[in-house]
Amino acid sequence: MMIRFGYPYFGKKYLYDIVTNTLHYLVNEKPECRIDEIDEENVDMYSSLNEGSLITDHPVYRPCPHCMKKEYE
Ligand SMILES: [Zn+2]
Repeated sequence: MMIRFGYPYFGKKYLYDIVTNTLHYLVNEKPECRIDEIDEENVDMYSSLNEGSLITDHPVYRPCPHCMKKEYE
């Protein structure tokens, strides 16, 4: 569990990497996610997968194979 507070994370659970179109689930974050290497300017945060702005802004995304794997097993 690596929920981060403050800019640009704001304590939200889902992190979208704008450069790689990858969505990470920070509750299940793994070292392989390399979240801290993602530039702050390339981060969009969401509270849930059903959040309207996620669907609107990024209708297609790549689920991170490390932290979002469980949801697809
Ligand atoms: Zn990840």
